[in-house]
Parts: sequence; C-alpha cells; structure tokens
Amino acid sequence: MILPRLFLFVFFFSLVLCNEQFNPHILPRPLILETTQLREVDNEVKLQCTSWRFGVEANNLNPWKTVPLECGEYVKDYMLGRAYSLDLERVSNESGVYAKSLKLSGDGKDIWVFDVDETLLSHLPYYADHGYGLEIFDPAEFNKWVDKAIAPALEPSLKLYKEVMDLGFKVFLLTGRSETQRSVTEENLINAGFQNWDKLILRGSEDHGKLATIFKSDKRSEMVKEGFRILGNSGDQWSDLLGSFMSNRSFKLPNPMYYIL
Ligand SMILES: [Mg+2]
Repeated sequence: MILPRLFLFVFFFSLVLCNEQFNPHILPRPLILETTQLREVDNEVKLQCTSWRFGVEANNLNPWKTVPLECGEYVKDYMLGRAYSLDLERVSNESGVYAKSLKLSGDGKDIWVFDVDETLLSHLPYYADHGYGLEIFDPAEFNKWVDKAIAPALEPSLKLYKEVMDLGFKVFLLTGRSETQRSVTEENLINAGFQNWDKLILRGSEDHGKLATIFKSDKRSEMVKEGFRILGNSGDQWSDLLGSFMSNRSFKLPNPMYYIL
C-alpha cells in the first residue's frame, strides 16, 4: 500500500515542479502564506467587492455584464445572508413611510408602479443554479424558469404592495417581460400572494427591441396622459426608474446579480 502512494506523491510533486519550471507566467511566491497574509487578501477582496456593489447600486457602473469573477462568493454570501434581506426591508419600510405621508386625492388617479422581477418576485432559485450573476444572462434558459411560475415573493415587497393598496393607491405592474408571458406572470404573482393589481403592463410586439428605460418611460407617459399621477415607483433596475415621466419618488431595490439597460 505504501509504495503505490509514495509513487503517486512523487509523480504529482514532479508535475508541480515541471509546471513551475516551464511556465514563465507563474510569479515567484512563498510556499506558505501566513494566516495574517491570507486574512489581508480576504479583507482586500471583500473591500473591493463591497466597493463594486456600491458602484452597481449607485448606477456608477453603467453598464456591466456579469459579476466580476473574484466577487462571485461575495455576491452569493450577500444574496443568501442577512444583508440582502435587511436592504430589502429598508427599501420597503422607507417606501411605506413615504406612501403614508401622502394625502391621496381620492379620485382613483394616484398610482404606485412596481416592476416584477427581483422587485416583487425573487429569482434567487434560478440564479443559485447560474452562479449568482457570474454567468452571462441566457434569455432562453431564464424563460424556461419563468414558465414554471414558481418564483417566490420578496416578502418585504409583498408587505409594501399590501400597504399601498390599503392606503388607496392604484397599483400598476410594469415589466419588461413579453406579452406572451402574461398568463404565467399572472399565475406566478397570484401563487406568490400578489392580488388585485389594477394593471399589468408587459412588452407588446411594438415594444420589442426598445431599451428598458425607453419602454418603461413610454408606458409611464401613457399613464400620465390618461390622467394618472405616478407617486411611487419601485424597481431593482435603474431602467425601471429613470427616463421620462418619472415618479415623484423612486425606490431602488438591491440587485448585484444582473443589469438591464
Ligand atoms: Mg426587475
């Protein structure tokens, strides 16, 4: 038993030596990294990734395609840990405080606009299988997930949704999903606990190819022309919130996994 093991050890050790000898791109490095050095590297990565996430949420990194490779674990920890939940709760609570501070006209024209994906419905189960944003977005794969209609609610958003409805806002859902996904979208929303919305607006054939900012601005323009007052808008993408006919107040939910222009 010992001889074969010894042979394997010598074999792999020789491979490592050969690799170092013939690969000119390997930088000289100490064989043993001190614990403190490892901790410093770890802290630096965390700081860099926190800085990256700040840039994402502040819309300073516009546009970006995927989570940087070195931040994959960081984003995963953020999404699965307490931090993401806390951030969602803060957005929901602050939105609720603002909503309650308004005096509605009572004519049924005061509206709150919600985006759907990563605003009302969570796609964490899908992104868990797709590297939490490390992979380039694959619309065909994502649509297969959407068709299952099993995305859970983001609970703090469901709380806000019920609050603004109880306060008397009309609730309009404005999503970049295609009109062909209307029935699965309705099914998923209802399964997740969302009910009684006043309008669900999806991309019609005339909207395909439009940037999200343009599509959503066009739809908000129609709302305003119909006499609605957009008092609140909740979305996980800046393209849900920016453009023309913007809401009186916009609330940005966190999303470090993907960016939609
Ligand atoms: Mg969204």
